[in-house]
Amino acid sequence: MNVLVIGSGGREHTLGWAVKKSPKVDNVIFAPGNAGTMEIGQNLDVAPTDFEGLKKAVLDNNIEMVVVGPEAPLVEGVVDFFKADEKLKNVAIIGPGKEGAQLEGSKDFSKEFMQRNQIPTARYKTVDKSTIDEGKNFLSSLNPPFVLKADGLAAGKGVLIVKELEEACEQLENMLDGKFGEASEKVVIEEFLDGIELSVFVLSDGKDFVLLPEAKDYKRIGEGDTGLNTGGMGAVSPVPFADDQFLEKVKNRIIIPTIDGLRIEGIDYKGFIFVGLMNVGGDPYVVEYNARLGDPETEAILPRVKTDLVELFEAVNGQNLGEMTCEIDDKAAVSVVLVSGGYPEKYEKGKVISGLEEDGDELIFHAGTKRDGDDVLTAGGRVIAVTALEKSTEKALQKAMERAEKINFDKKYYRTDIGKDLL
Ligand code: ATP
Repeated sequence: MNVLVIGSGGREHTLGWAVKKSPKVDNVIFAPGNAGTMEIGQNLDVAPTDFEGLKKAVLDNNIEMVVVGPEAPLVEGVVDFFKADEKLKNVAIIGPGKEGAQLEGSKDFSKEFMQRNQIPTARYKTVDKSTIDEGKNFLSSLNPPFVLKADGLAAGKGVLIVKELEEACEQLENMLDGKFGEASEKVVIEEFLDGIELSVFVLSDGKDFVLLPEAKDYKRIGEGDTGLNTGGMGAVSPVPFADDQFLEKVKNRIIIPTIDGLRIEGIDYKGFIFVGLMNVGGDPYVVEYNARLGDPETEAILPRVKTDLVELFEAVNGQNLGEMTCEIDDKAAVSVVLVSGGYPEKYEKGKVISGLEEDGDELIFHAGTKRDGDDVLTAGGRVIAVTALEKSTEKALQKAMERAEKINFDKKYYRTDIGKDLL
């Protein structure tokens, strides 16, 4: 069959690579893809939120399965669009509908969902301009630091963690006054959770689920997790502090109630759920849900999935995931992201990338790259993710670093401490 992967990042290159390994797949097509995806399939110049363009791509290329990478098309209703179209409704599309995507698209929706379904999460209050005083009262009832979240999507920038009460009240006002545009017309105020973060990934067919490998990501630009936030500088899987006992708690207290809650509330959820968790003294709390896989976590988790991903997707579509198991490699994966110097602030594009030729077992996933004749050029902040899969995290880290060193472009930067805190 032919499969369409929507998106253009390292996550989508990895999804396409995993899909392409399936004997069931003839061609993988990307909308719009990058220089790396061109090597394993075909790129189409169609934006992820151009639904009519996607429809044409599916019909022109006899696509039988669509995998949605990023959140924007999900939140905008790409799955609902497919289901409502006579010509597309039999195409298997992996991703939740608009309603399910609200788990990510609205923090207030996800907090209410967790409250209704008794899923452990930080105490909270959602306010808008008319209830700002209640918000300030709630803030004064909490211990510092204070967590303020824009309700809507804000490209990973809509969360403020503030030390002083006075500043928290000021920031609350700023947010409600449009600091993050429409996204902060409502603000979720949360109790601060003190713990270690990790992410757990689930694939659901709306009735049952399989657990994918867990991962820890490294968000900040600088060594030792310092400096500005980024889309992600690296990821490691497995996560040593997430032992069987902890993961059992995650499954029983969070995953099962989430899947049951969605079903009971009539939300047909066929896709990935990314659960951002805080381990607080051995107990898991949900920090956030995302309605898709993470980037760069995907680059670390999918190489550990031994089961044919397309068979899992078929089971999602046919709602028989309960009959499947997801076999996971014991090996450790470390993924390191090479970025353009200056990122996440101002950086230059169009630099020639060298050293991409295969030499070893490491996996090279492209993010912001584009082809120009025989050259591959940088085309974004995050450029390449290098993943090594080895018997130990230590070895994987060493291999990933060695490979990262061999790939070059002007002003290349990467963190050399990914996963070191876990050793
Ligand atoms: P991203 O897009 O970066 O995943 P987001 O904007 O969707 O994030 P959250 O994941 O809810 O927002 O919060 C961002 C980060 O803020 C979390 O990864 C976590 O480190 C921190 N954080 C959020 N809520 C809390 C909390 N209640 N207690 C402590 N830290 C928190």
